[in-house]
Amino acid sequence: MSAEDHAGAVLVREVGPRDGLQMAHGIMPTDLKIRWIRALAEAGLRSIEVGSFVPPKLIPQMADTGEVVAAVRDLPGLAVTALVPNLKGAQRAYRAGAARIVVPVSVSESHSRANTNKGTDEAVAELGRIAAWARAEAPGLHVEAGCATAFGCSIEGAVSEARVVRVAESLVAAGAASLVLADTVGYGNPAQVRRLVAAVRSAVGDRLEALHLHDTMGLGLANAYAGLESGIRQFDASLAGLGGCPYAPGASGNIVTEDLVFMLESAGFSTGVDLNRLLAARGFLAGGLPDEPLHGGVSRAGLPKTYATPHCPY
Ligand code: ZN
Repeated sequence: MSAEDHAGAVLVREVGPRDGLQMAHGIMPTDLKIRWIRALAEAGLRSIEVGSFVPPKLIPQMADTGEVVAAVRDLPGLAVTALVPNLKGAQRAYRAGAARIVVPVSVSESHSRANTNKGTDEAVAELGRIAAWARAEAPGLHVEAGCATAFGCSIEGAVSEARVVRVAESLVAAGAASLVLADTVGYGNPAQVRRLVAAVRSAVGDRLEALHLHDTMGLGLANAYAGLESGIRQFDASLAGLGGCPYAPGASGNIVTEDLVFMLESAGFSTGVDLNRLLAARGFLAGGLPDEPLHGGVSRAGLPKTYATPHCPY
């Protein structure tokens, strides 16, 4: 990476309220969830995935997503994102006031069937229906496709790069405005990140916008840095590293937002996030989910004196 590549902005999207809470053992009360999301926005996060519009009987932690979206949709400067599995969910998200929706499409056929009861091609077709509806009836709604298990699958093992590229191309053809490559189960490595980002970029260009990384093997931040070196400037992360996937056995939490911000800012990238305020937002997790383990190097060690506190826009 050349010196000028360091002088850039990176968008950190917090996914704790969705990816983090869906695997939590307890259910965070709605009012606490809303206060937590507000605290994350006040720490400078400009993009937050606040929940998913899935049937409450499948993921009861997400039953209040409509209420949560409505409560935070008007926070200044915040892009409120929700995950939706189908057109019905997309319509609910739009009515509640979400600015962006992420439609997960698993590149691995087995994971796709376990996660959504649909094969990969059927999931791509569903995204096509959502994108067509959004063009006609939901002006301004950003439809993003999440390529799940792009770096490997806990059910079927290796996922070929050719298949990831093919699915990415079909998602763009079906109308996805942007793509995020997700290491759903956390099996990726930095060399693979470089190869896959280059392959997908050569097929769909900068429609590939973001990486969604899990830290199962402790390689999450190394993978994020490989993504940075490959030109990616948007990353999903979760406060205190909460997270997982109910249908991906062995998956662990997302990369830790606080540690990602520390790495990015220390390396000269600007995130707009006030790390002290971000660390303070962990208090909502300790209070709302007392049985949940909280992770993170920065919180464990404290912010070192070498860290220059960046200017916070809020
Ligand atoms: Zn995830």
